[in-house]
Amino acid sequence: MIILVINCGSSSIKYQLLDMKSDDVYVLMAKGIVEKIGLPMGSLTHTPGDKPKVIIEEPITDHKEGMQLLLDQLVHPQHGVLKSFDDIEAVGHRIVQGADYFSGSAIIDEDVIEKIGVCSDFAPLHNPAHILGIRAMRHVLPSVPQVAVFDTAFHQTMPAYNYTYGLPYKYLEDYKVRKYGAHGTSHQYVAGQAAKLAGIDINHSKIITCHLGNGSSITAVKDGKCLDTSMGFTPLAGMIMGTRCGSIDPNIVTYIMKKDNLSPDEMTTLMNKKSGFLGVSGVSSDVRELNAAVDQGNERARLVFKILTHDIIKLIGSYIAELDGVDLIVFTAGIGENNARLRRRVCENFNYMGLKFDFDANATGHDDRIISAPDSKVKVAVISTNEELVIARDTMHLVLGSEE
Ligand code: ADP
Repeated sequence: MIILVINCGSSSIKYQLLDMKSDDVYVLMAKGIVEKIGLPMGSLTHTPGDKPKVIIEEPITDHKEGMQLLLDQLVHPQHGVLKSFDDIEAVGHRIVQGADYFSGSAIIDEDVIEKIGVCSDFAPLHNPAHILGIRAMRHVLPSVPQVAVFDTAFHQTMPAYNYTYGLPYKYLEDYKVRKYGAHGTSHQYVAGQAAKLAGIDINHSKIITCHLGNGSSITAVKDGKCLDTSMGFTPLAGMIMGTRCGSIDPNIVTYIMKKDNLSPDEMTTLMNKKSGFLGVSGVSSDVRELNAAVDQGNERARLVFKILTHDIIKLIGSYIAELDGVDLIVFTAGIGENNARLRRRVCENFNYMGLKFDFDANATGHDDRIISAPDSKVKVAVISTNEELVIARDTMHLVLGSEE
């Protein structure tokens, strides 16, 4: 089944075209990104299968034009991979926020679009862009079924004691202020893959998944379901991140606003875009650049790594307590997959639980792998996340299910 996976931002559209033979067997037919929608000059970078990249630069007025442009590449006589649009059997959309409306993926209809719109309150940068993408795709491919896959859905199994904040209860009832979490698709995928690799039955397991990228979150997964996660009402909560501060004493917010005479929007920008690795180091939000700074003796860059390491250790430690043990710890995303030193440093703190590390497997190899020793009581895995595959799988199941 040929499925187009779409991840729509406010000025960009990332896409992958997958030919799904089964849940685990698929061919990545093409992928690409449309960028700078609405700016004087836009661009599209299209990679058809294993052929060379094609780059197109031209103004792209809106998401409708962006969708049309990317679809045109898929059927292009030279670098296309399909004979016609009719070959696309379904479209899956990544949706950042589904709040408590969606505990799983959904076939898109007007009601689903309306609910995604209501959830825009909690994800003002993302959900409106997703709706633009859905409407644009419905316009250019009106007869193709579309599915919404939510970053928050996996976390909907969290118990009330983990999603309820210690605020007056009316804010939960009236404004739906509660923990929703994020990166759910990634946590779900890597927990499943790692369990398979470790030979663990996910339905009877205690797994902690660490998605460490520009945005980072850690999740406690019990018997395959989310028990707790570190991001909160928004992705600002939890550990320190590239440009986000993570959880801080809430009183700091009003204190700084008063001191520097900042508006709510300015304070939101400060915490989301100017904090984290970037804010503390003053150098960069990117771990590779911070590594270079450490090598040059930059003490604040070194401090960032210490905060990062200890935030991860503290979250894993608290989730071990909550899960009453752990069978498997999983690392994924840009930092989790590539930073062997950080993984080693974090795992050192769990030797007391019988975690024995395989230093060679950790330091070498790029594939999904176990990096704990064979006789380790707690297994550790590195898994390359693949949110697009989960979106394609869910889309396939829902569309095939609806046709039965
Ligand atoms: P996003 O959350 O935007 O998807 P990523 O998962 O790509 O981000 O993670 C970005 C972080 O991962 C950056 O700090 C970057 O330095 C780091 N990273 C990504 N790729 C590599 C790599 N090959 N080697 C080392 N660090 C990497």
